[in-house]
Amino acid sequence: MRLALFGPPGAGKGTQSMLLKKRFGLDVISTGNLIREAIQEGTDVGRSVEKYVNAGDLVPDHLVRDLANQAMAEHKFDRFILDGYPRTTTQAKWLREFLDAYKAPIEAVISLKVSPEAVVDRLSNRRINKDTGESYHMIYHPPPSDLDPALIVRRSDDTPHAIKARIDVYRRETQPVEEFFRSEGILIEISGEGEVSDVFNRILSSIEHIAELELV
Ligand code: ADP
Repeated sequence: MRLALFGPPGAGKGTQSMLLKKRFGLDVISTGNLIREAIQEGTDVGRSVEKYVNAGDLVPDHLVRDLANQAMAEHKFDRFILDGYPRTTTQAKWLREFLDAYKAPIEAVISLKVSPEAVVDRLSNRRINKDTGESYHMIYHPPPSDLDPALIVRRSDDTPHAIKARIDVYRRETQPVEEFFRSEGILIEISGEGEVSDVFNRILSSIEHIAELELV
């Protein structure tokens, strides 16, 4: 099974992909995480992309493509969920060509629909456990009271300025990619609002046709 999750920043792609991972034993390929790892490790790629991420801009297409292609190859072109890739029409076309060459096309793109107000609310209240990567919402899903406060951090691009930039970039560069997936006949649109478990159940019903044979 090869899936992709699509939607604005804060739509819940990371949360839902972790749940899909648990349910189906799929691996999550998150270009955002791969990029953050490269930055943390101080690799050449990491050093050259840091300024884009902190400003809320997209990282140049070819750099993200190399990270994503390498990860898909490591997974032998199967049993993965793409989170946050592709995010431009160029990336979407490259991805299709790349996977077509291995006869391993994406079977469904799950597009999570969330209102602009919810996006701003979720990102500005988001905090991350820097050890586990778990994310919290300071009002609706606060960190446990016994967790060391020093472990609770804000992502460097969850600042008001970068949040605004990310939403603008999403509207301009990423939103149009949805039309590409629609024309390919693989787009599934799901409401990303409400409880995490409700969103997950909606996703499960929408992929029943491809998922039933692959439960682990
Ligand atoms: P979010 O979806 O909440 O913005 P991500 O963790 O997916 O967060 O991405 C964080 C940042 O990493 C983006 O703002 C961008 O700078 C970079 N990035 C991630 N995926 C891509 C991509 N496919 N193309 C270009 N830049 C990307």
